Amino acid sequence: MVEGIQSAAQIPAWLVPGQTLFVVVHILGVACFGYIVARRLVPLVRAQQDPRFDQPFARLGKVLKFWLGQWKHPRYKTAGILHIIFFAGFILLAFRAFAVLALGAPGNFALPGQLGRIGHAYGIVTDYAATVVFLCMIFAIVRRLVFKPARYAVPARYGKAHTADAIFLLALIAILMLADSLFEAVNAAAREQQALAVEMATVLSLPWLLKSALASASLPTLTSLSAQAYLFQQAVFYFLLCYRPFGIQFHVETSLFNVYFAKLNKGTVKPVRWGVGEEHLDQVKSFGVKTFEDFTWKHMLDFYSCADCGRCSDNCPANAVGRPLSPRFISIKARNYAFQHYPMFGRTGNGKPLIGSIYSDDEIWSCTTCGACEEECPLLVEYIDKIVDLRRGMIDTGNVPQSLQKPLKALESRGNPYGKMEKKRADWANGKDFQQTCRVRTIDNKNGADTLYFVDSITSYDDRMQSIGRATARILEHAGENFGILGAAEKDSGHEVRRFGEETLFTALRDHNSDAILACGAKQIVTADPHAYNALKHDYKDFLPVEHICQVIARGVKSGKIKFNPVEANGNVYTYHDPCYLGRHNQIYDAPREVLDAIPGLKRVEMSRSRDRSFCCGGGGLMLFYEPKEDQRMGVKRVQMAAEAGANVIVTACPFCMVNIEDAIKVAGLEGKMTAIDLAELADRQIARKSPAVEATEVVAIPQECVMGR
Ligand code: SF4
Ligand code: SF4
Repeated sequence: MVEGIQSAAQIPAWLVPGQTLFVVVHILGVACFGYIVARRLVPLVRAQQDPRFDQPFARLGKVLKFWLGQWKHPRYKTAGILHIIFFAGFILLAFRAFAVLALGAPGNFALPGQLGRIGHAYGIVTDYAATVVFLCMIFAIVRRLVFKPARYAVPARYGKAHTADAIFLLALIAILMLADSLFEAVNAAAREQQALAVEMATVLSLPWLLKSALASASLPTLTSLSAQAYLFQQAVFYFLLCYRPFGIQFHVETSLFNVYFAKLNKGTVKPVRWGVGEEHLDQVKSFGVKTFEDFTWKHMLDFYSCADCGRCSDNCPANAVGRPLSPRFISIKARNYAFQHYPMFGRTGNGKPLIGSIYSDDEIWSCTTCGACEEECPLLVEYIDKIVDLRRGMIDTGNVPQSLQKPLKALESRGNPYGKMEKKRADWANGKDFQQTCRVRTIDNKNGADTLYFVDSITSYDDRMQSIGRATARILEHAGENFGILGAAEKDSGHEVRRFGEETLFTALRDHNSDAILACGAKQIVTADPHAYNALKHDYKDFLPVEHICQVIARGVKSGKIKFNPVEANGNVYTYHDPCYLGRHNQIYDAPREVLDAIPGLKRVEMSRSRDRSFCCGGGGLMLFYEPKEDQRMGVKRVQMAAEAGANVIVTACPFCMVNIEDAIKVAGLEGKMTAIDLAELADRQIARKSPAVEATEVVAIPQECVMGR
């Protein structure tokens, strides 16, 4: 109890004894909240399993970094700093909320730490915390109403704007802070009148201001006001607690758990069904997600945890170019579905297909699995696994886009999406000119090598990309690697096939390649294709170590094995485009930049969106065969970003990026002004050799008229 005034439980209000009111308010509040949360958990109980109870220390580390440390919030400065401030305020006030609850108890009851010097110091901190949270809420309301950040907007196809709901919740929090401060102020005023306490130290805080306003109130008035302020504060507190699970503020309750149970292994794709081994997949009756209940419980928790901040969609390239996909609404629509079909009372679930009701085919095929949404989300909401699972469900029902049927068949029959002959897979290495500079061996169980160069389909068969293959081979030779390729024994890595949702075909491709790779006796794998890199690293289980060629070059530069000639002094400005499967999915950001910066005379600039905020070029693998509805090509946006950065040469490290970027340069009308080159090609061209490589400039020479400003 607070000195100087009766506890709220002793004061009758509206003719009801204070103790009765106290008991009724708390029992009702706790019971309502418990019931609501229990109902919200019903779909999670019915959901698919998801083993997220391993590695507790790694998970706790995530909680400390991403939840308590609010690690991702400052990526958006204003909103991020605002969130950090009121998050810190909430954490500080959490204990006070319980302390205030306890103050209503009869007798001289106070939680430990509430009295004495510690209690006094804590009171000062929380008085200011309540004030800061109150001001943040006012600022957030003004920001929503006046400045209207674009990422909060709701396009017409996704329904009504969420502004009113957001403002209502912000206002409720502001009112709670006000009520909390009023209760504090009334008691402080009473204490002061009875000369029981020193002057309130929290000058200019909300409680201080309210206390000053109450300075002339009589003690009986303050006593009555104290009980009313207490009940009002408790009513707002419980209303807010029970209202939150009906909207975006549910993340206040779920975010801690969502971060704790977040995915730990980037770059991977979840299995078709947790708990069902691959050898038993043929017994699985239904693949992927078709109905809401096919999602895992963690994915449902994601839906509840989405704070509707719009950061994912703001960074989604599909959304940026007008494809019918906005990741934020993948969550919002699913959450609305859960709220509608798992109501507070009555029957739950309806088992209806999600595709065609809340999601469209195009929406789900529009994703390039670039990972920008997951990288940005402060609450670690996952999207790629969900989208892959939805695709698995569509494929299981025969719902495959027309344009993708042919490449899928070709992958099944020939091991590549172009339907080309297996024996032509190594043709890129057979040219006479090339063979004068480099000999590429085909390796097998009789004729092995230490390093396998895994080429993958696009570099093997696409005339333009074969140059990347030749450059990679020459670099490996220059670095002194004992390497070879699988030739006709290699099949597509299956990376895109898996992300497309064709798990059975992926398994067949992976098993074939795994057998061939293990048979050739190589101890490590090198590839120049980030998609192959990601597959070999994450999708091929417990496999050989794998490196991207940029890592080999960077190591060669560091050891002094690789030295570069200066670039021609023609004023070219280079920029590096991070491929999604090298950067975001595998955090290889520095090695390619180290290579570029080691080339004498090379001027490099960064695009506004680089490293983990890189903008997808349009997607690799099967996305090359799929033309979604869009206003603009992603690649075109990307080359415009390069031009804005002042670059005229885009360097990438992925053959799929090369296809998209070269195509985009033409579409954007920048031919002759802008060009693209693969990092392997550039490194190969610039390597200082005793006898210069004959082919090293075959594709990569940059016409003089390309030079910026000429
Ligand atoms: S998924 Fe994450 S980034 Fe996207 S709106 Fe929800 S909370 Fe924000
Ligand atoms: S993975 Fe990329 S394309 Fe897919 S939803 Fe996320 S940001 Fe958009």
